[in-house]
Amino acid sequence: MWQESDACRRNNRVVIKGGCDNNKLSGACSPVTDERLTMLPRNFTEEQQMFRAAYRKFLEKEIAPNVERWREQGIVDREAYTKAGEQGFLMIWPDEQYGGMGDHDFRFEQIIIEETANVYAGDWTNTLHSRLVGPYLDRFGSDEQKARFLPKCVSGECILAVAMTEPDAGSDLAGMRATAKDMGDHWLLNGAKTYISNGINADLVVVAAKTDPENNPHAMGLFLVERGMEGFERGRNLKKMGMKAQDTAELFFNDVQVPKENVLGDPTLGFVYLMQGLAEERLIGAVGFLAAAQKAFEVTRDFVMERKVFGKPLSAMQNTQFQMADLRTEIDVAQAYVDQCVAVHNEGKLTAEDAAKAKLYTSEVLCRMVDEGVQLHGGAGYMDEYPISRMYTDARITRIFAGTSEVMKLIIARDLFSDKFAPYIDRT
Ligand SMILES: Cc1cc2nc3c(=O)[nH]c(=O)nc-3n(C[C@H](O)[C@H](O)[C@H](O)COP(=O)(O)OP(=O)(O)OC[C@H]3O[C@@H](n4cnc5c(N)ncnc54)[C@H](O)[C@@H]3O)c2cc1C
Repeated sequence: MWQESDACRRNNRVVIKGGCDNNKLSGACSPVTDERLTMLPRNFTEEQQMFRAAYRKFLEKEIAPNVERWREQGIVDREAYTKAGEQGFLMIWPDEQYGGMGDHDFRFEQIIIEETANVYAGDWTNTLHSRLVGPYLDRFGSDEQKARFLPKCVSGECILAVAMTEPDAGSDLAGMRATAKDMGDHWLLNGAKTYISNGINADLVVVAAKTDPENNPHAMGLFLVERGMEGFERGRNLKKMGMKAQDTAELFFNDVQVPKENVLGDPTLGFVYLMQGLAEERLIGAVGFLAAAQKAFEVTRDFVMERKVFGKPLSAMQNTQFQMADLRTEIDVAQAYVDQCVAVHNEGKLTAEDAAKAKLYTSEVLCRMVDEGVQLHGGAGYMDEYPISRMYTDARITRIFAGTSEVMKLIIARDLFSDKFAPYIDRT
C-alpha cells in the first residue's frame, strides 16, 4: 500500500518529491514546492497530496521506464496492473471488503490522471479500468457480482473493458446491431464491436447488446463477458495514429452463452445505465486532456527558453510570448472550470451538459496547445524523440472518443434551448 513517507513536510507544507524533467520522456525529477505555483490554488487534502507523491514514485519506477517498449509492442504488459494493484493504485473506490479504500472522492482519480500525463504515459489505462468501466459493477452489479469480480479487479488480475461501439454504430448507439436473446437459463449474445480499449488485455468486458430488437429497439442490456467464454473472439489489435501502447481491438461474439448471473441490472435498461456513466466518463476525459495540455505547455516553454533564433531565445520573440500567454490563459481558466466540475461531481451534482462543456473545451484547448507546441518547436517538433511530437498525435483522438466534439455541442445546445435554461444571474 502507498505510504505517508512518500511525501515529506517542510515548514508545515507538504513537499511533493519529484517534478519531472520535461526534456526527457521519463526520468530525473526535482522537488516541486508550493512557492513555484503560479496559478489559482487547488483543493487537495493532505492525504491526497501524499497519495500523489506515492503514485508519482510508482509511475517513475514501474510505468515510465516501460512506456517506450509498450508503445512499440502496441500493448501494456499485464503485470503493470498487478503491480499497481499490489500497491493500492487500482480502483480506490470499492469498499474495503473488496480490497479498495472505500473512498469515492474523484480527486484521487484526478491525481492518478494528472500524474500519468506528467510522465507521458496517457496510454497506460489505469483509469479506464478503475474509474470508467469498474463503476458499472458498483452501480448496477449485484452483491454476488461485486464479490465475484471486484477483488480481482482491485488486485489487477482481472482487467476491464467496455464494448459499445460497432462498425456501424458509434455516436448513434441506438443503431447498434449486437443482440442478446433470452434462452431461459442464459442469454445468447451475437455481434461485433470495434475500437475497444483494452480489447486484447481485458479479462472481463461489459458488452452492450439489444435485448428486444423487434418490439422495443431501445431495450438494451449490459452483459459481463469473461475471457474464455466459448464464441468470444478477439480480432486485430488495431494500428493507431497515437496512444500506441493502448491495445484497441475488434471483438466478436458468436453465439456466446452468457449466464443469467452475468447480466448487469435490468437487461432492458442498458442504454439508461450507459448514459448515467457518461458525465463521469467525460470528466475523466477533461481532467486527462487538460493534464496533457499542461504538460505540453511545460515542454514547449522549456524548449522556447532554450532554443536560440537570430541570436536570442525564441521566448524573447513577441509572437512566442503572445502565443504562450494565450495558451497559459486558456489552460488555467479551463483548469479552474474542471476543478469546479470535480468538486460538483463529488457532491453528485455534475450535469451531462457541464461535463460535455468540460470535455469539449479541454479537448479543443489540448489540440490547440499541441499544434502550437509543434509549431514553436520547428522541425524538432516533428521528430519522435521530442515529447511534443507524440503529444500531438496522442491528442487528436480527444475530440472523437467518449463522444465527439459535435455530439458534445448537441448536448450543450439541447440544454440551452430547453425550458431548463437559467439566465446566469438567476443561478445560485
Ligand atoms: C482509440 C479509441 C478508443 C476507443 N475506445 C472505446 C471503448 O473502449 N469502448 C467503446 O465502446 N468505444 C470506444 N471507442 C469508440 C469511440 O467512442 C467512437 O469512435 C466515437 O464515439 C465516435 O463514433 P464513430 O467512430 O462511429 O464515428 P461517427 O459516429 O460515425 O462520427 C463520424 C462524424 O460524424 C459526426 N456526427 C455524428 N453524429 C452527428 C450528429 N448528430 N450531428 C453532427 N455530427 C455528427 C461525428 O461528430 C464525427 O465527426 C474508441 C475509439 C478510439 C478511436
